[in-house]
Amino acid sequence: MTERCDFIVIGAGAAGSAVAHALSSRGRVAVLERESAPAYHSTGRSAAVLAENYGPVLWQRLSTASRPFFEQPPAGFAEHKLLRPLGALFFATAAETGALEDSARELARRGVAHRLMTPREALALCPVVRIESFALALHEPGCADIDAAALVQGCLKLARRNGATVMLDAGVDAIERGGGQWQVRTRGATLRARVLVNAAGAWCDDIAALAGLKRRGVRPYRRTAITFDPPAGHDSSRWPMTFDVAETWYFKPEGGRIMASPVDKSLSAPCDCQPEELDIAVAADRIQQATTMEVRRIARSWAGLRTFAPDEQPVIGPDPQEPGFIWLAGQGGNGVMAAPAAAELAASLALGEGVPQALRALGIDAAAVAPGRLPAA
Ligand SMILES: Cc1cc2nc3c(=O)[nH]c(=O)nc-3n(C[C@H](O)[C@H](O)[C@H](O)COP(=O)(O)OP(=O)(O)OC[C@H]3O[C@@H](n4cnc5c(N)ncnc54)[C@H](O)[C@@H]3O)c2cc1C
Repeated sequence: MTERCDFIVIGAGAAGSAVAHALSSRGRVAVLERESAPAYHSTGRSAAVLAENYGPVLWQRLSTASRPFFEQPPAGFAEHKLLRPLGALFFATAAETGALEDSARELARRGVAHRLMTPREALALCPVVRIESFALALHEPGCADIDAAALVQGCLKLARRNGATVMLDAGVDAIERGGGQWQVRTRGATLRARVLVNAAGAWCDDIAALAGLKRRGVRPYRRTAITFDPPAGHDSSRWPMTFDVAETWYFKPEGGRIMASPVDKSLSAPCDCQPEELDIAVAADRIQQATTMEVRRIARSWAGLRTFAPDEQPVIGPDPQEPGFIWLAGQGGNGVMAAPAAAELAASLALGEGVPQALRALGIDAAAVAPGRLPAA
């Protein structure tokens, strides 16, 4: 039997869940997720931080635009707060001070609280960094941990309340177009809708190809994370998330341990991503080089995929070949923190309403995020 709806969303990570919520008050939504639980892939493996100084500039702006949603989600969304205060520190070498000063100017334009300081002053916030090689630091006090599971569950709960259907174990294996409608087949169901939203994360190019459209070169890259015990004699629970501007390491307190990443970016096929032994070793080594911490035993390690367009900016909006096919992709390392605003943007473009005013005010325009700016891959 064929089920009819207005919008089919492929993928139930942060992107698919948030756009399902955004569209559910505007028509009938069906979310199709291949796995037996939402957020199994990238969203469930994220550091889940809202850091407004992080990532390509348009993703940063979408992150800033998402903060009000995280601070004040709709009624009934979650039982507790979505954000937990964390703070962020960025360290620049002498050669990188210009870049960090540019970042400070961009944060000022968006009204994001921040302070440039000497590395020595920054030691008061995080005393374990070896500051000898650094010339400047930036503190972003509003950086926060996001409850990513609550974000996804809250979006799906409110979408269902608005009449959306969420189908799990529902991998999409055929997409056809006819009579102005998409027909999408999973193992157990066939659905028809005028609009299809591609929120398939690492698989977004595959979904375009399945729909007979051109790939846009939006490709997944592996990133590794480890946790280990914090050093004795410090209250690490109060440290900010700490990054080097060159992006070779970051770490933050997490659940009584330290979570760290070697900030790796290795091209991968879309898959159930696992960490490589070498990347785990590099993570531990870089933390020991950059800080006074010793990584005696790795408590946990994992890896996830971050999916980027060639220019690393968002891929949001109608496909140039077929305007009923809406991309919501290329989130890179910002897909959790920017999910609410990116979903609003995708929903608005799907409905033909253009870029919402609040996003235009932040310097987001449709052409800069349009999938059609990317040459067919
Ligand atoms: C180590 C690490 C740290 C990170 N830290 C942060 C951070 O601090 N803050 C931040 O904002 N972001 C962070 N990210 C990035 C963030 O995790 C991603 O940008 C985000 O999760 C992408 O969400 P998504 O919904 O697009 O993808 P996903 O969560 O991967 O969801 C895509 C879904 O589509 C489904 N799907 C694919 N193909 C099909 C099909 N044919 N049929 C049905 N379903 C299908 C998949 O099963 C999957 O569930 C991090 C990532 C990693 C790996």
